[in-house]
Amino acid sequence: MKPTTETLSRIKKLEELISRFRQEYYEHDKPSVSDDVYDSLLNELKRLAEKHPDSVDKNLIQSLVGGAPQKKFSKITHKEVMISLEDIRSEQELLDWEERVKKYLGVKSIGPFYCELKIDGLAMSLIYKNGVLQTAATRGNGEVGENVTRNILTIHTIPFRLSPSKELNEEFEVRGEVYLPKKPFEELNEQRKNNGEPLFANPRNAAAGAVRQLDPAITAARPLAFLAYALRDPGMKHHSQEHETLKKLGFQGDGHAILLHNIQEVIAFTEKMLSIRPELPFQVDGIVVTINDKALFDRAGIIGNHPRGSVAFKWPAEEVTTKLLDITVQVGRTGTLTPVAELEPVVVAGSTVHRATLHNADEIVRKGILIGDTVVLRKAGDVIPEVVGPVLELRTGKERKFEFPKTCPICGSRVERVGDEVAYRCTNKECYGSTLLQLRHFTSKDALDVVGLGPKVIDALYDAQQIHDQADIFHLKADDIAKLERFGDLSAKNIIQAVSERRTMTLPRFVYALGIRHVGVETAQALSKKFLNIDSVRQASLEQLQQVPDIGPKVAESIAEYFAKEQNQHLLDRLLEEITLEKMVLPKAGKLSGKSVVITGTLETMSRTEAQQKARDAGADVNDSVSKNTDYVVVGEKPGSKYEKAKKLGVKILTEQEFVVLIK
Ligand code: NAD
Repeated sequence: MKPTTETLSRIKKLEELISRFRQEYYEHDKPSVSDDVYDSLLNELKRLAEKHPDSVDKNLIQSLVGGAPQKKFSKITHKEVMISLEDIRSEQELLDWEERVKKYLGVKSIGPFYCELKIDGLAMSLIYKNGVLQTAATRGNGEVGENVTRNILTIHTIPFRLSPSKELNEEFEVRGEVYLPKKPFEELNEQRKNNGEPLFANPRNAAAGAVRQLDPAITAARPLAFLAYALRDPGMKHHSQEHETLKKLGFQGDGHAILLHNIQEVIAFTEKMLSIRPELPFQVDGIVVTINDKALFDRAGIIGNHPRGSVAFKWPAEEVTTKLLDITVQVGRTGTLTPVAELEPVVVAGSTVHRATLHNADEIVRKGILIGDTVVLRKAGDVIPEVVGPVLELRTGKERKFEFPKTCPICGSRVERVGDEVAYRCTNKECYGSTLLQLRHFTSKDALDVVGLGPKVIDALYDAQQIHDQADIFHLKADDIAKLERFGDLSAKNIIQAVSERRTMTLPRFVYALGIRHVGVETAQALSKKFLNIDSVRQASLEQLQQVPDIGPKVAESIAEYFAKEQNQHLLDRLLEEITLEKMVLPKAGKLSGKSVVITGTLETMSRTEAQQKARDAGADVNDSVSKNTDYVVVGEKPGSKYEKAKKLGVKILTEQEFVVLIK
């Protein structure tokens, strides 16, 4: 497929941006965006390259690694290239990787797997000869690195001289990560802040900056450390053996590395490490999973710019980029109008995000966000997602400013800014409650009847912006509910199950659930009986509505008004995408055909609702109030005023037993 001009321009902008980010990160040790944001944009470019292979610069997505070595250092050509690692983000991707490699090697199993922490630092290649450190080189562009031996000698955890080992050749290579532990990193930034110097974006850049200095005194001034993760020597038959030997030689490991038998064990390990990640003394961005058998690992070789036999399992990204499709306005419970970002759905911190609150109009201006922007979205764990800001370089010129609406999107009343508050409010005091009342009504007993989705939960879901209208209830996920305070996974799942069971319902229940003013259970019944399907109900004219038995002019007007509103018709369309309405079955001519019945008081053998249904099944019109047109009033215990009125008007009064006999 030929890319459109728009796509081509997007590709070009992404390429320029990624090249710039790489240079800032690898060559100047000064990234201007987080790794997650960089990864997100690179992934977009990779997706575009899959669709339009001829339009994307392959060098950019497949190039070895890193950046050009700095001229100020002499160069060292690596004996074996230093490459990148393929990122894996889920258990499924890990299983897919295992399958792919098994197939490639034509073997039944590639386990066990050696798992170790992926420390965020600077890769270093150390060459030892006769037990003495000869050279230390950065990764550079993967083939040629910078000679930083003098600086590396200042790091205490890198031994200059090793005790001789019979296991190893005269010359071998140790690979590992030079890093700055978290605590000194924080102290360093604190110090820089006090001196008015720019802060380091992350420990990796602080470490890289310190190592890539001409003056070793600067390197020495930073408490850098070294963790060894590989030993290149023909005597090594297993990756675990490399680690054991490195330990014997006096190198430090991460303290958690482990040999595991299958992918399930690997996943359990990644979860455990994620939970202790905050307490680790160094920054870790994932787990490196490697085929332990060196012969198999070597046979697997290299694909693109990474080894086939090793992957980096990375925890869910907490920052991603996505498109801001629109900004809508939600009316909160206190009448406050909150702008909401409508986003191109994107997975962040493990869940899909469609919307994020933008808090208020000032915040949008402060962050400089325009509708149509590519934005950075951040979500850490269970915290609500936040739009951080736009990626200015990706603007096309078609973005537009958000104008705060002058009228309320729910009731159309004027919107005003109160005093010097940042929030806008709807001036109609009746309005803001109404959305919530409608939502509460929708799930109530005579309507959708979803057990567990009572007013409190509805309010909490609305406040958390998980639901905006009735149709959203059908899009809820157990996770959305489980996130609310005091909710367990089980009750959340039960609610979702209950909602899914309500996807089929009767017409009268549905009409009642809409919450049309003055339309109670009886009116909903009357409307359904008269029009038989929802299309006829929603299209009925005022005159037609006025002809429905038991519907007075005021009620008819309210129904007509409801269906005349475009937003209600739109809601109805959305609801009907989720709900199937049962065919209306009219009661056969029964014992009470043409009779008007009122039930009052507490009955003995059935509830009032059941009795009303039985009367309807027998063909009766069931009403709430007694008039001279009423044929029967069925009276239970403590009947009250309806009974008195029936006696006064001379309406026939039935006991529960008489009623049961009558309809039999
Ligand atoms: P990588 O960092 O994903 O993986 C390879 C590196 O992992 C190795 O070179 C090694 O240094 C390191 N590593 C740490 N512990 C290890 C262990 N136990 N075993 C093996 N290796 C270990 O790959 P990469 O291509 O070098 O870098 C990509 C990373 O750089 C991405 O996370 C990307 O986001 C980041 N980056 C960020 C920007 C930015 O602007 N923020 C720009 C470019 C790259």
